Amino acid sequence: MDREYTAISREKHPTDLSGKKGSSNITIMRELTPAMRQYLSIKERYRDAVIFFRMGDFYEMFFDDAKLASRVLDITLTSRDRDKDNGIPMCGFPYHAANTYIARLVKNGHKVAICEQVEDPKKAKGLVKREVTNVITPGVALSDELLEAKCNNFIAAVSSGIGSYGLSYMDVTTGEFRLAEFNNPTTLSEEVARIEPAEIILRESDGEGKEQGWKEFHQCKITTLPDYDFDYSISEKSILEHFGIASLDGIGCAAMREGTRAAGVLLNYVGETQRSTLEHVKKLVPLYPSNFMVIDTTTKRNLEILRTMRDGDKKGSLFAILDRTKTAMGGRRLREWINYPLTDVDEIGKRQDSIGELLEERHLRSTIQGSLIKVYDMERLIGRIALGAATPRDLVSLRDSLGEVPGIKGHLDGFNSTILKGILLGLDEVKELTTLIERGIVDSPPLTLKEGGVIRQGFNDELDELREISRGGKEWLARLEARERERTGITSLKISYNKVFGYYIAVTKANLHNIPSDYIRKQTLTNAERFITPELKEWEDKILGAEERSLTLEAHLFQQVRESASGYIERVQKTANLIAGLDGLTALAQVADEMNYTRPLVNDGDAITIVEGRHPVIEASLDDRFVPNDITIDCGDNQLLILTGPNMAGKSTYLRQCAILTLMAQTGSFIPAASATIGVVDRIFTRVGASDDLARGQSTFMVEMGETANILNNATARSLIILDEIGRGTSTFDGLSIAWAVAEYIHDKAALKAKTLFATHYHELTDLSLTKEGVKNLSMAVKEWDDKIVFLRKVVPGGSSRSYGIQVARLAGLPETVIARAKEILRNLEEGELNNLGIPAIAFNSAAPVMPSQMTLFGKKDEMREKLSHLDPEKMTPIEALQELMNLKEIAERHDENG
Ligand code: ADP
Ligand code: MG
Repeated sequence: MDREYTAISREKHPTDLSGKKGSSNITIMRELTPAMRQYLSIKERYRDAVIFFRMGDFYEMFFDDAKLASRVLDITLTSRDRDKDNGIPMCGFPYHAANTYIARLVKNGHKVAICEQVEDPKKAKGLVKREVTNVITPGVALSDELLEAKCNNFIAAVSSGIGSYGLSYMDVTTGEFRLAEFNNPTTLSEEVARIEPAEIILRESDGEGKEQGWKEFHQCKITTLPDYDFDYSISEKSILEHFGIASLDGIGCAAMREGTRAAGVLLNYVGETQRSTLEHVKKLVPLYPSNFMVIDTTTKRNLEILRTMRDGDKKGSLFAILDRTKTAMGGRRLREWINYPLTDVDEIGKRQDSIGELLEERHLRSTIQGSLIKVYDMERLIGRIALGAATPRDLVSLRDSLGEVPGIKGHLDGFNSTILKGILLGLDEVKELTTLIERGIVDSPPLTLKEGGVIRQGFNDELDELREISRGGKEWLARLEARERERTGITSLKISYNKVFGYYIAVTKANLHNIPSDYIRKQTLTNAERFITPELKEWEDKILGAEERSLTLEAHLFQQVRESASGYIERVQKTANLIAGLDGLTALAQVADEMNYTRPLVNDGDAITIVEGRHPVIEASLDDRFVPNDITIDCGDNQLLILTGPNMAGKSTYLRQCAILTLMAQTGSFIPAASATIGVVDRIFTRVGASDDLARGQSTFMVEMGETANILNNATARSLIILDEIGRGTSTFDGLSIAWAVAEYIHDKAALKAKTLFATHYHELTDLSLTKEGVKNLSMAVKEWDDKIVFLRKVVPGGSSRSYGIQVARLAGLPETVIARAKEILRNLEEGELNNLGIPAIAFNSAAPVMPSQMTLFGKKDEMREKLSHLDPEKMTPIEALQELMNLKEIAERHDENG
């Protein structure tokens, strides 16, 4: 078939069929060809998908699909019946290009349904039968173009009941399948954000009006399904059937009604798109959020755990620093560990034990890594086998990967830690499967089955025989060619093949006078003529017949091998899982070795003490030496640490470093510090100041206050809070007042008492330590020299008294005249030379923001006035009045003392 799609675009007014209803549709239907009617009936069932309609060697799209595809895929829009007006809009491309086009559409958030010819066109009576064989959406993609090796591709379903919210998610490529339940929609949404699904399924009535919100928050495709798909009993039944069990108790999710509902919906949706029974989905694992540290979206972003804040790259993130994994599976596992830090001290200890051993045994570690590097993505390979999508090369890759298992077991032999021993015991090379693949498939098969050469010699007698015939035939042809050259004396005579005539003898024009009389002329070209002989045709039948039969047989045999392979899914998954874990642990040992990390003591206490801690990402990016810093923070005397210091001194780095090291410790990793004790935290909250957070369009002040509210409402005594410059997004007075009140609240509220690190440029906050027991001041040391400053990057006790703003401005390259003038103004401000409007007498000639002195803002007069204004003598008893009087006196005395 020779269809051209270039430059045939014409100005027409294509009828938009899909939008029309009722009788008009029927009239149009009557005018349509049978193929178009078949198309429309299929489209009817997959309205939300772009249909790739197979016609011979092409995939074609029609009507609105064609318009959309031509735009997104940048291919020419034409029309089906070029001679008539109102032709049907259409576009298409050769079938072998499909993967690229699928990927492009799906990446743009569209759904693609592949509609194949499901019978041999040669054998079809009338219209070829066509069916949708699979549907591709961002959440159920299988091709490498749409997947990232070290990242799961999750599809999630959520459902809500009364006071409970269900979540289930699956990675179709690996078969991982989980469910969880929450009691409020925010936690649900945060958990969804944590897994970063590529697609979310919502119930129609849940999604109403909220779809856009979900889409914006999660940045992924949202699919809504009708309410009846969310019927609990259907969900339950699907799960029971899929796992072949009689009750949900067996998989521990009986109590999670909403979670179960979501899981059933997901199972059905994915099964439907894949047209598969999902043999590789072997387990439904309940997830209990309390087993993991909560990391909300804000914290994940602020701490740059998986990607950077600036450009969203993996490079520059914590994950990138730690990721020394050698396999895709190990990469995904490590990512999961970082995304889900543990809260159980024993579990953390077990990981540390094995990392410790792998760290010590440097030589064995590198041998293990040498083996791991040869292991392919077994999880996804076995997934493709289960979904019937595995290629011959996939099978060979699986065989090679399993072939590494005995070696890895050998390297693990001497280790003693629980996890490594468990891996050694559990690893299974699945010998039956490697033997099967070994026997069935050649060592380096071609990419596809199309040209054959996949099945190994000796695997099947019939195939060997057919191959023998076609090989014998080819030898015979070579002999025939030699014989005919001799007989005719034409040395350039050639036997060739094409699809139209089959085998023929080609003779150039110049030699035509020499051809024998038994040659039958088939075709004349400019320089040559093509002939056949009866003998040639007889052999042709034999050769071609054998070739065609052997190709069919090979395809069939390959299918058989693949099906037999799917009998070993569970064993392969188990081994893949262990290898992923081993790779993750080895990676953490490797980075610990290279970057000089140590093992923290992780316990259930409420203190975090780090000696000479370093920021793992910044230390790796600095040319200079990173200056290590200590920290002690707890729920007692050191509950609220207020860190002051000039801009660029290293405040934010210090804050983040403390949070990141805590998080790392709870993943089981070693950390960049001389030593550390980490009391497990339940959650890390972060609030990072406006200027550090330009990524979002919302009013920064609103975002800031929203996040602060979230912290105050949800933090517990076991949480760690990082507040970096709050109150910056508003005026100085407002900002300072809010910052002050927030700090007080965190300190005073008994139920809160969370460990808090508070960086601020409001020096006034250092006064909090005068009255609050749990507040300690820290500052960034700077050295002043000749009116210049040098950042020492060292955190020291006590508040900083100056902001050095002008010196920092000079460092930044502000012109000397501006610097000099700023100094002059500052001096006036500090000396209080203000005019009657509160404006520095010589500095300004118009009203402008002013920094008042500390005393007037929070001094005795104001505090007393504030107190007095709240007193209501009419409602007070004499005793209360006396008490208040004593309080006032105390305030007065205290301020006198402080000067
Ligand atoms: P601040 O929040 O006080 O304005 P940052 O934490 O953003 O300062 O630090 C500014 C820069 O100083 C960082 O980008 C980093 O290059 C450097 N820095 C911070 N802490 C250290 C340290 N401990 N050792 C060496 N350099 C550091
Ligand atoms: Mg900062």
